[in-house]
Amino acid sequence: MKKGLLVLLAIAVMMMALAGCAKKDEGLYNDGTYVGEGEGKYGVIKVEVTIQGGKIKEIKTLEHSETPGLSDPVFEKLYKSIVDKQTTEVDAVSGGTITSDGIKQAVADALSKALKAGAVVTKPADTTGTTEAAVQNQDVEVDVLVIGAGGAGLTSAITAAENGAKVILLEKLPFVGGNTQISATGITASDTILHKNQGISFTVEDHIKRTMETGKDVPNLELVTLLAQSSSDAVDWLISLGLEYKVKNEEEPFWIIPVEGHYGAQLVAAMKAEAAKYDNLEIRTENKALELILENSVVVGAVVENSNGTYNIKAKNVILATGGLNNNPEMIAEYNAKYAGIHTGMTTPGATGDGIVMAKAVGANLIDMEHFQVRPLSLNGEWFRETILSTEGKGGILVNLDGERFTNETLSPKELVTEILGQRDRVAYFIFDQEMAETADGKKAFTKGSGVSADTIEELATLIGLDAATLAKTVEAYNQGVDAFSRKTMGKITVGPFYAVKTMPSNHYTMGGVEINKDAQVIGTNGAPVPGLYAAGEVVGGLYGPGRVAGNNTLDDIVFGKIAGRNASK
Ligand code: ADP
Repeated sequence: MKKGLLVLLAIAVMMMALAGCAKKDEGLYNDGTYVGEGEGKYGVIKVEVTIQGGKIKEIKTLEHSETPGLSDPVFEKLYKSIVDKQTTEVDAVSGGTITSDGIKQAVADALSKALKAGAVVTKPADTTGTTEAAVQNQDVEVDVLVIGAGGAGLTSAITAAENGAKVILLEKLPFVGGNTQISATGITASDTILHKNQGISFTVEDHIKRTMETGKDVPNLELVTLLAQSSSDAVDWLISLGLEYKVKNEEEPFWIIPVEGHYGAQLVAAMKAEAAKYDNLEIRTENKALELILENSVVVGAVVENSNGTYNIKAKNVILATGGLNNNPEMIAEYNAKYAGIHTGMTTPGATGDGIVMAKAVGANLIDMEHFQVRPLSLNGEWFRETILSTEGKGGILVNLDGERFTNETLSPKELVTEILGQRDRVAYFIFDQEMAETADGKKAFTKGSGVSADTIEELATLIGLDAATLAKTVEAYNQGVDAFSRKTMGKITVGPFYAVKTMPSNHYTMGGVEINKDAQVIGTNGAPVPGLYAAGEVVGGLYGPGRVAGNNTLDDIVFGKIAGRNASK
């Protein structure tokens, strides 16, 4: 049993013991602020609970290592329901169960310190959501139904609403944002107003060339050209939403990044605020599209499921914006057996390929499905650069659970993926020393990766459960330049303290998906558009092939989201 669970149990037992000697209605808690700790997915969650008038008034996060951006709505939603219901006995936020448990545990810990002697802890009746869900369970008809509320879905829905259409935007999770929300870097765009203002050149032609080269000429040139040509308008639109951007620098002129702050979180917040301006646009979270409704070979809506059951939404046109299948390892393996057993640490929970399945069932053609962008060295929702294995002549090694090296760590990311997937539990430990720990990559890996450190290699091995003698032997051999894997740049692991970070290959982006044309219509296996069906975003294939230009993805959400929204609302 995890240590955290034991603490939780102890708190529960204590609360139950107190429940016997009851005095009702005076407020359960002593006023003040109380700090509590719980165990989240990636480490300690520390909260501060304010009690006023004997009641839970406010909860603040003091510390956590959960996935940036993605975990924010989990904290927000859970705090709200704990304060509303005055209990930690609330439902976990779906898609964030482990984080939810950690938060509840931390709040319960704080509350146990605030609890008045003799207070009764009772469980209130659950009344949340029922009215809303009942209304949402009626069959309904709209002009445009958008499925999936990430960047592409939000853009499509806003555009259709702007055109006067009555729109419902469905999101199966309790929060909007999808993988767009965790998109950290920025948007790729060319010939924008920002390039002009900063006197930095990255032309539409450069953009097309970069995209086609990275994708080894597999991407659809017509779509890529449209993408690049529309990128300046896309950036103008984002600026009009109040986002403040700049071109990164001369060296990386393709990146448009926020002046400050987290790119994806800001983007989604701005889109959410824009969507809220339209009375004719309704966002329904915790409503999942199960299948598309086909009448006389035309897509006319979807069957939707929520906590009350299923109902139908009929629409003149449907836009699929369900994202990729990064969180569906079985489906990934189905399309590329090489990635069987892949980890899913770098994605939000909603990316399970639903759109692909739904589209296929109505005759959509799927393209580039074998291509995935997989990062070999991923940690908590992030990844660290492979350069950490050989930065500036310093070096680290990868060892398996037997404490042994198994590969040339300087292989290409793609090759490293295969190597690590071949190891027990498909994980590796990255072992490095203080010199590496002081580099930017090293610092990030240690902090984001919940790394451990120790003064000796033997102690380090014990901390991570590896055989101490074997790891010491492995490190010593490496330091002496012994290498069975033809590694050219061998560094040293000699300056203590020593560090270990667990790492695993994780899928990062789904390159393939449904085929679309330049009007964002979904193309059928018969080569003709599937009437009534449009698609945008990561659910679409054809823009990347085997290699993705980072930052083109949120660009394609916007460019094809706008095209889909416009055409579906005509
Ligand atoms: P994109 O960048 O293409 O917008 P995202 O991953 O950002 O992709 O967003 C896709 C969204 O679609 C996610 O929030 C995901 O939870 C949602 N989604 C996926 N499948 C369904 C479904 N069957 N019904 C409703 N929403 C869905």
